[in-house]
This record gives sequence, C-alpha cells and structure tokens, in this order.
Amino acid sequence: MKESATTRSARGTWSNLRRTAVEAVVVASEATRVAHDTFSAGDEVAKADASPVTIADYAAQALICHRLLEAHPEVPCMGEEEASRLRGPAGEELLARVAEIVRTVEPTLSHAQILEAIDAAHCKGGASGRFWAIDPIDGTKGFLKRNGQWAVALGLVEDGAARLGVLGCPALPLEPGTDPSATGVVFVGVVGEGAYQRGLNNSAHNEEREIHVARGENLPLIVAESAENEHKQGNRTARIREAIQARMIPMDSQAKYALLARGEATVYLRVPVRRPEGETLWDHVAGVALVEAAGGRVTDLRGKALDFSRGTHIASNHGILGTAGPPHETILAAIEADYAAHPPHH
Ligand code: AMP
Ligand code: MG
Repeated sequence: MKESATTRSARGTWSNLRRTAVEAVVVASEATRVAHDTFSAGDEVAKADASPVTIADYAAQALICHRLLEAHPEVPCMGEEEASRLRGPAGEELLARVAEIVRTVEPTLSHAQILEAIDAAHCKGGASGRFWAIDPIDGTKGFLKRNGQWAVALGLVEDGAARLGVLGCPALPLEPGTDPSATGVVFVGVVGEGAYQRGLNNSAHNEEREIHVARGENLPLIVAESAENEHKQGNRTARIREAIQARMIPMDSQAKYALLARGEATVYLRVPVRRPEGETLWDHVAGVALVEAAGGRVTDLRGKALDFSRGTHIASNHGILGTAGPPHETILAAIEADYAAHPPHH
C-alpha cells in the first residue's frame, strides 16, 4: 500500500522519534545485560585500533538499527560498529553467538538481517538534516569490568546539533545507593522538552519521572570523568579539579552525562589526550542532548558550542565541559588558567 504524505510526515514527529528511540534502546540494553551475565572468553575480540568489541556491541547495534530503520527509514544511522568480522567462514562462530544474544529479545531476526542491520549504520554525518548516532555499547571497557558501567547510547543530530538522546544504563541504580533490584535505568531527553528516567527492566519502576540538573547557587562541585587514564589527560584533569575544589566520580561511558542530568554530579569534564581527529559523535550526542534537555549546559573547554556537523568526529572542538549551568563560566576560567600555566606540548 502506498503511504500518504501525511502518514509520512507524522512518522517523523518528535514524539514518534522519541518512542522508537526508547524502544530500541530498551531491547538493546536488555540484550547487553544478557550478554554481560553469560559472557565467556571468545565473546570479545580486538578491533584494528586494539580497542575491544564484543558480541554485545554487535547484537545491540543490530537491534537498534533494525528497529530504527523499520520505523523511520528516512533517517540515516551512524554507528560505531561494522560487520566485516562476522562475515564469511572466519566470522561464523562469532555471528552465531551474536545471533543467540539478539534472539533473546528479537527471536525472528535471521543472520542475514543481523548483518544487514549492523552495516546499515554507515552514515557519515553532515551539516544538514537528521541522522542517528549509535554507540551500541559505550564504555566497552566498563562492560568488561566486574562493577563497571556501560551505556547503550542513541542520539539524534539535526542540522549539526544534538536534539534527542536516549541512554540505557543496565548497571546503574535508579537512585544512588538504593535497592539493588531497582538497577537498570533508561534516560531520554529531547532538547527543549525535558529529560526523564525510568527503570529499564523492573516493572515496579517503569513510569517515567522527570529529572533535572542540580539547581541553585554555590552547588557542591562533583566532577564525573572517565575511569580510563588513556581517555583523558590525567594531570591536567586533576589540577583543574583541585583548582575548583571538586570531588570526583570516575565512571566509564556516557552514564556520566546521566549523572549530571539527574543532579548526582554537577560537572562532566573531558580533557582530551592528543588525538588529531577528535572525539567521535556516538560517544557524546546522546549524553549532550540529555544534559541540555535536563537544563544543563555543554560546551568545549574554551566555551564554544559543540559542532556535530563535521562528519563522524567532533573535529572543531577541544574537550568537553558539561555543567548544571551556574558554575560554567567559573570552571571555564579555571581551565583557561591551567592551559596558560601549563601549555600543551606540540
Ligand atoms: P569514557 O568511558 O568516558 O572514557 O568513554 C568511552 C569512550 O571513549 C569509548 O567508547 C571510546 O570510543 C572513547 N575513546 C577511546 N580512546 C579514547 C581516547 N584516547 N580519548 C578519548 N576517548 C577515547
Ligand atoms: Mg563509545
């Protein structure tokens, strides 16, 4: 049957995009939890850049892309993974494990559909229109740790800006330090329309509750920063933290942005190690949209707006600072002072 123009445009409304995005992240998060709980040695392989990828990364990207393209074929997907490792005789065993995980939540997907869905996320971004940015498991290193955090991250970019973000955090408690059975949270934010959280896999907590960054003057500064020393300039990060007299929460993945969005942290700080290409979009779009939707502010370390229009990388910004709002300028000044006192080596 031919679709009418009205049906087509109604599909692309924010509430439809939001609903699809949340559904996709919820099923993919559940798959990552299953993979986490049944993980075995052969489930991890090293990528060309030596970073780890697991069957759960592939399964989650397949599930997300499959859902998104079914509901919104007009919106292209950019994703971190591609399926070449799973193709051909060499990939057979790994593909079978990926399919096993996928089918715990989506029993009818064939091997061919899984490969096709993973490789559908080949969009390279750009300055105009909409595209999804998918990190099927952000914080793979956290996923592989005993008590680590990871996030299934899905963001939507429109005309170069982060507009919608969904984060599935299967290992994060709903409220800090509470009932461990209430663990697993899905966050969703649409910029200008608020941010929300609900339980990921616990029917007692599946109602969305609005969240907001911490409000007020003289907020205690609590910095969420990467738990991986290789992902940040440790010395500079520590000096800046000291200069602003902040406490730190080290954590893997974009779950850090979620802590800022719900007021558990008041600062997100990423001081980049030297990588000429910059950060990748899928590591930040969802988290940035969530924080902005929750009333927070995100810029680079010089106070410039983040530019998601330059392809797969955030090529024209240096580092990232997210805050609850009021302390933003003060922290930017502390960062500037540190760069002046300790110029980067070239
Ligand atoms: P985080 O847990 O905040 O450190 O973020 C995890 C993400 O950092 C991973 O998904 C990687 O894509 C990304 N990453 C890997 N190497 C680096 C690096 N040298 N600098 C910054 N980010 C990196
Ligand atoms: Mg990542």
